[in-house]
This record gives sequence, C-alpha cells and structure tokens, in this order.
Amino acid sequence: MSATETLVRTHKYRLYPSKKQEAIFTEWLETCRRLYNYFVRQRFDHWEIEKQLPKGYRTYISYFDQCKQLPELKKDNHYLKRAYAAVLVNVAKRVDKTFLNFIREISKGNSKYGKPKFKFRLCYNSFTYPQPGIKHQKFRIEDNRIYLGKIGHVKIIVDKDFPNRAILKTCTIKREVNQWYAHISFTQIVSIPELQINENKAIGIDLGIKTYGVLSNGKEIKNPKWLQAMEKKLVREQKNLSRKKKGSKNWKKQLIKLSKIYRKIRLQRNDFLHKETTKLANDYDLIVLEDLRISNLIRNSRLAKNISNVSWGIFQNLLSYKVNEKGKKLLKVNPRNTSQICSNCGEMVRKSLKIRIHECPNCNIVLDRDLNAAKNILQKGLNELRSSIDNTVGLTGSACGEVSVETQGSKKFVKTTNKPKHG
Ligand SMILES: [Zn+2]
Repeated sequence: MSATETLVRTHKYRLYPSKKQEAIFTEWLETCRRLYNYFVRQRFDHWEIEKQLPKGYRTYISYFDQCKQLPELKKDNHYLKRAYAAVLVNVAKRVDKTFLNFIREISKGNSKYGKPKFKFRLCYNSFTYPQPGIKHQKFRIEDNRIYLGKIGHVKIIVDKDFPNRAILKTCTIKREVNQWYAHISFTQIVSIPELQINENKAIGIDLGIKTYGVLSNGKEIKNPKWLQAMEKKLVREQKNLSRKKKGSKNWKKQLIKLSKIYRKIRLQRNDFLHKETTKLANDYDLIVLEDLRISNLIRNSRLAKNISNVSWGIFQNLLSYKVNEKGKKLLKVNPRNTSQICSNCGEMVRKSLKIRIHECPNCNIVLDRDLNAAKNILQKGLNELRSSIDNTVGLTGSACGEVSVETQGSKKFVKTTNKPKHG
C-alpha cells in the first residue's frame, strides 16, 4: 500500500491583458495599495491609544474587524466599488499577516524587525483572487484564457499544465516592471510509491556561497559565472539607489532599473536551479541537506546572504517536490558541527570559517572543508533514517509491512515507506 501526500505548488504564467484590462489591473493595484496603507494606519493609530491602557483592557483591530468595514468604505469610494470584493478582502489578510509577523518578532524581543510599512506606488505590485469553492469560482482557466471575476477573460500562456486532480487555490496577478503574470497556486494529492534506498545512491550536499554545493561524493554544483556577474551588478545598483533621495524622480528611475536586474537574475537563477535539482532527483535516491531554518553560518555581506538564502529556499522546495514525485527521499538535518567533526573518524576538529581545509590530527585525513561537511551531512541523514526505521519497527512491529531492512549482497538496502511530511 502506498502513502499519499498533499503538495502545494505554484505555477507562474505570463498574462497578455488588453489595454483596457491593463488599465483595470493598474487601477486595482493602486486601490489595493491605498486600502493597504489605510488599514496599516488604522492599526497603528488604534495601538497608539490602546497602549496607554493597562494590559487587560486593551483592544486590538483584527482581520475580521477590517473586513467588516469594507461595505461601509465602499459607499463613498467609487474605486473600492469598482474593485473585486474578494481581492479587497485579501488586502486585509495581507495587512493581518504582516502585523502577526510583527507581533511575533516583538514577542521574541526583535522590535526593530518586521515593522509594517506603508507601501509606495512602485512597491505594491500584486493582488490576489482566492478560490473558496467550486460553486463560486472567482477565477478559472480555459485553454489560453483565464477568467477573472469582474474583469473577464484575459489571454494567458499556459506553458505548464496542471496535474490531474489539482485543486486551484489562489491566483495572484503580479506586475513585474512592464509585464504581467499570474501566479496560480494549487494543491495536489500524490501517491508515493514504496521507497527503496540504495545507500550507494545517497548523498549529502553542503550548500555554500562560492561553490553552490559540494556533494559528499566529491562532485560539485558550480555557481554559474553570469549569475555572479549579475549579482555584483545588483549590489552596485542597490548602492546607487541608496544614494538617491527616496521618492524622487531619479530614485524611481533607479528602482525600475533595479527591478529589471532582479527579474533577470530571478529568471536565470530559477532556470539554473530547475536544471540542477532535476539532475539530482534523477541521479540519487536519498538526498540530505542542512536544515536552513537552523543554519546561520554564513558570514557575508547582508545582500549576499539574502540572495543565497532565497536561492537555497527555492533549491530545497524544488528538490523536495521533484524527489517526492519520484518516490525518493529528501532529509534535512541539524547543521550543528557538520563542518567541525571529522567525517572519517568522528574526532572534533575545531576550525574557524577562514580555514578551508579539514586536517584531522587523529586519523591524518586531509579533505576540503565543504566536502568533509557534505560527508557528515550524509552520515547524519543515514543515522536519522536508520533510527526512524528502528523506532517504527520497535513501535509497530515489522508485521505492518511498512518498514523493513534487507541486506542484498554486499550492498545495504534500506526499504521504507515515504510518509507524509511533518513540516
Ligand atoms: Zn579523523
């Protein structure tokens, strides 16, 4: 019996709105932006008063409070009246999300981070259609057209089909400088075949900045040169922007220039990530990575860090679904000490980030630092897999047929059923 898993995925399609439709898109963006700023202002103003009260007496403005205001607000604002109601509700949701994040940061003691911001015209570039049910579709796709509530049919290039039994969730219309895109997210229930992992086809990957990734078998994923050049250019233009007066004509011009570079980098990088993850998912049965949520090892300029963080996040997501679709396995392990421990003998060999070579005084092995880390990552993954198998066997007995360990010749096979992810 095979297990099933629900995947959430997003496809991005280019839109070709008519002149009239583009005017509506632009108008709605502005309407949503103003509403967004209004809701943010309202929450701040409310808080200014409430914070003077003792804790138990304070009231808060919620998502529902703000949604409930919409009919009243529409009465004397014809822009709000012209926009699609569900799209406006989503604006309230966005505001709520930023405030919830902000509150979470404050509770962690980071009052500096995540403070909700008012949005400039050029910084507000999307609005979202939710999909509540089959009866009341707010958007749907018909061949090369997408139906959007209150706008009608817009030409779309569907270059990637939706999988069978996909359930559409949301559609976000996004402006990228002078082009329009629809980001359509959907859930898909996939059945995962029983998994057989050949340990010879298991690898650990150490993700880095200079080399994109080092594999535990010594292979490397090299950063493409053009991407590095573009990223340097991005840093330069970013500096240019910071020298200009915020909101000025030159600042806006520079912002558009910067967005174009961003878009180009994003497209090229995604292309690179797609190719690399497809290769990995084809070549290996078990792939082990460091859990990025815990990893905080990169000491580099903030921008470089941001870029690699975003890129590694996408890399993991792409890899995760490609690996899942093939019934293979991706594991994320705690990065603690992966660069310090000797992958050969287990000795702790302390070294700063500057030292690029792992030299073990205990077993005398000399390895590239990242290769040593990749080997440790793989080892952690294999240990985790074995202990989860032991636990399952211990708990449920081998009679359930879900998990078994077999030995075939000299090669060791670990056989397990891929269970739904626990987050
Ligand atoms: Zn050693």
